[in-house]
Amino acid sequence: MFRFLKRLTAKLRQRWKPRKKAKSKPTPKPRRRHSFDARTKKNLDTLHPKVKNTFIALTEIAMAIGRKYGVTIKMISAHRSMEEQKKLYNKGRYGNPGPIVTTVKVSRHCFQIAADYGCFGKNGSYLDGSDSTLTAKIYTEIYKQAQKEGLPIIHGGTWKSFPDYPHFEYKNNLTISQMKEIARKGQEVV
Ligand SMILES: [Zn+2]
Repeated sequence: MFRFLKRLTAKLRQRWKPRKKAKSKPTPKPRRRHSFDARTKKNLDTLHPKVKNTFIALTEIAMAIGRKYGVTIKMISAHRSMEEQKKLYNKGRYGNPGPIVTTVKVSRHCFQIAADYGCFGKNGSYLDGSDSTLTAKIYTEIYKQAQKEGLPIIHGGTWKSFPDYPHFEYKNNLTISQMKEIARKGQEVV
């Protein structure tokens, strides 16, 4: 009898023990195979928080493919203010020294959902300027791999009228004017 009571109280004690709060799982960090250079990190940080992981994955792909070619790939530009984009648009236009580098006055860069990469040689030389045939090939390979991995990315290299190989943007299925309208209302474009 005594043993039975002992067992019963033990059981009851077990049952009434305050339940431990379930530990909340930490949000998984993106897979980091490489450490990014300071310039890339700085630019990644200017992107919209909702697209940052997509661009981290894209940068990892870019760096891996770059290594295959003995080329260092960095993210050299991401977010641009409307003012900065306007300055860029004026390059090569209205009597300003060229070349023309963009066709748009307002770009997806202004909405923090686009990034430009740069290919650099062993001595730090900017290959996009000196060997654009090679860099176009590299960027196309990056895009193909990104597609294989299912990243929601659009590549400027696929544009017929003004191919922009170093340019990649997040596919949010919105036009620039739709995004302008959304931003005007203070809402998010992604
Ligand atoms: Zn761009």
